[in-house]
Amino acid sequence: MSLWADIERSIAEATAAPFHIESRTPVGGGCINAAFRVAGSGRAYFVKTSAPHTADAFAAEAAGLAEIARSQTVRVPQPVCHGSNSEAGWLALEFIDFGSARRDSSGALGQALAAMHRVTAPRFGWQRDNAIGATPQPNTPCEDWAEFWREHRLGFQLALAEHNGAPKSLLAKGERLLRDFPALLAGCGVEAALLHGDLWGGNAGFDRAGTPVIYDPAVYYGHREADLAMTELFGGFNRDFYAAYREAFPLAVGYDVRKQLYNLYHILNHYNLFGGGYARQAETTIECLLAEI
Ligand code: ADP
Repeated sequence: MSLWADIERSIAEATAAPFHIESRTPVGGGCINAAFRVAGSGRAYFVKTSAPHTADAFAAEAAGLAEIARSQTVRVPQPVCHGSNSEAGWLALEFIDFGSARRDSSGALGQALAAMHRVTAPRFGWQRDNAIGATPQPNTPCEDWAEFWREHRLGFQLALAEHNGAPKSLLAKGERLLRDFPALLAGCGVEAALLHGDLWGGNAGFDRAGTPVIYDPAVYYGHREADLAMTELFGGFNRDFYAAYREAFPLAVGYDVRKQLYNLYHILNHYNLFGGGYARQAETTIECLLAEI
């Protein structure tokens, strides 16, 4: 069976309606996978494909989208089905017609994110592991946020960095930070909030009605400041977004320091994925954090 015949069948089974592909148009903009608008039988889906071994990452992405959809706080593409054969893995989602922001769209995104962050769980982590970019992301449930961030976020990426030959000075400072960073969390009242987990500008947009949409998540329950910090790392979110978020869910004192602690995770991940100047950026960030303790 060819890949597209299997995808066709997988969509037909999941939707309990016959589905025959009439057109398949590449969609640009992704970082990792090939993506297509697949249309036929009077409907359309967004389908990502990748190597067969990525099937588990697609299953995790579908589960993450379903978790956010259940919160009924922000629009996400509804997952349809996922699977794999010897050729490839695939993930089919509701196709969203993206448009541009209206006057109040960015504020609506800020409010929607705040509402999502009001959804909490008894423990940090999640029911399953997933991926951050192409890197595995462990979500082993944990009662304590500092322990979770140490073990499953910074410590995990620092161990990978060591494996990838990171500079000794970076690793030594990273060790000190792993020991001392809980001082930065004192008094900020961390709750296990539903997070997108990979909220850079490329993973948020607006549909034709101007309604905010977020996608391509790396869901877990954690400190909401981690999501907000990431929006600042690569830019793409405007003042209306931040004003609306803070009005709906004010931030505790010390966010400006803690956001560096949270973005360090993504900087280390970029080092582990792409190498180069990210080692220097990670080390400088660690130095700034150590100076705050
Ligand atoms: P990758 O996993 O490769 O990073 P993304 O999930 O970010 O891929 O999707 C790539 C691009 O496809 C996005 O930037 C967006 O423009 C578009 N896109 C994502 N999800 C949908 C969807 N459900 N419907 C239509 N277009 C989508």
